Amino acid sequence: MEDKYKKIIKNFEKKEYEVSFFETIENAVDYLEQSIVGKNIGFGDSLTLDYINLKEKLSLKNNVIDPGVCKNTEEFIETARKCLTTNIFITSVNAATESGELINIDDTGNRIAGSLFGHDKVYFIIGLNKLTLNLDDAINRARNLAAPLNARRLKLKTPCAISEIKCYDCSSKSRICNGMMIYYKKMNNIKMEIILINENLGY
Ligand code: SF4
Repeated sequence: MEDKYKKIIKNFEKKEYEVSFFETIENAVDYLEQSIVGKNIGFGDSLTLDYINLKEKLSLKNNVIDPGVCKNTEEFIETARKCLTTNIFITSVNAATESGELINIDDTGNRIAGSLFGHDKVYFIIGLNKLTLNLDDAINRARNLAAPLNARRLKLKTPCAISEIKCYDCSSKSRICNGMMIYYKKMNNIKMEIILINENLGY
């Protein structure tokens, strides 16, 4: 592991997160499969979790609840609500700083809410493409890159999805950036583990 990443891991640990670093997605998924057994697991919508095929692997020995597969709003809300009280919650972030802050942007709020309270443990799965130098860069990444790319992926009719890739602070009904969470440090009275993977994952 490069010295730069050792320092970043130390910075996360100073903020009381457990941190596990993996060179490959396969190694990270194996670790999660071994670590989480017999639990109810809630997912926060995340392209990263889809990309690493985590649901299929964890479903072998756990009950996984994933609002990302719901077909309509009612089903989504009901499923996302169930995810708020599971033993385990797993999600990603839109950006992470080298000094240990995390950023998430959300539209419904289920991803942010689930990542803060109500579980025995929360896991953040983070590819190294999400790392930024400082908080300003992280917020910029979340607002002007991650959110517009997600809007494009979802084929939304937002200005960021149909024009240049940047945030227009739009008033669209499809806006996906209704709230932004800065995690300055691990929340109290809950375990949180950062799974850092040496690959590009999600936006
Ligand atoms: S606020 Fe609107 S324009 Fe900006 S990233 Fe979100 S959806 Fe796109």
